[in-house]
Amino acid sequence: MNIVILLGAPGSGKGTVAAALASADERLKHVSSGDLLRGAVAKGTPAGVEAKAFMERGQLVPDALIARMIKDVVAETEGDVTMLLDGFPRNLAQAGILEEMGAPVRSVVLIDVPDEIIQDRIAGRRTCPKCKAGYHVKNLPPKVEGVCDRCGAALEIRKDDNPETVKDRLAVYHADTEPLVEFYRSKGLLRVVDGTTGVENVAAAFLKAM
Ligand code: AMP
Repeated sequence: MNIVILLGAPGSGKGTVAAALASADERLKHVSSGDLLRGAVAKGTPAGVEAKAFMERGQLVPDALIARMIKDVVAETEGDVTMLLDGFPRNLAQAGILEEMGAPVRSVVLIDVPDEIIQDRIAGRRTCPKCKAGYHVKNLPPKVEGVCDRCGAALEIRKDDNPETVKDRLAVYHADTEPLVEFYRSKGLLRVVDGTTGVENVAAAFLKAM
């Protein structure tokens, strides 16, 4: 098992690219910290109950809470698998936790998208609550408006995708997550791909870069 970390602002396309690559190659496993947390919130587990308020405000949940979940997934992933780790680490402390776990990080790929484009992308984002597939009303529309292509469930707008919370999430990204770019660059692990060229092109560039 080895790990490729996806770095990028909320709405940069990390989840879309990771899901597209994982569905095309069974040796790639997409692990999204946001999906793990939303699953815990939906189930009402103790971790989910604790995480809910942080997520609704667009803030990071406590490091130990998300680190425990990631540790479990890392421990249960074996064999000839590359984990596409989407959303973790989100700050330098979490990067330290990942190192302490001894997780074998092969590379870190930054999906680079300017803030102006991010706002527009998140405004059009739609998500399947059942199978987690992601869509965009203009850039990646479902075949039938409001309905998931994969499982037929009604698509939703994520609670934290409203413009006010998006502003907060972007501020958190710049303050807490962006320092990881230099951190991983200094280790020689960082690759950068242009995230504005369309899903297929970004996925192809990502695959080359990782
Ligand atoms: P995402 O789906 O990656 O945009 O994550 C949605 C929300 O989940 C974030 O705004 C945070 O509140 C929380 N979250 C996801 N990953 C992490 C993480 N690694 N550390 C702390 N909070 C996280």
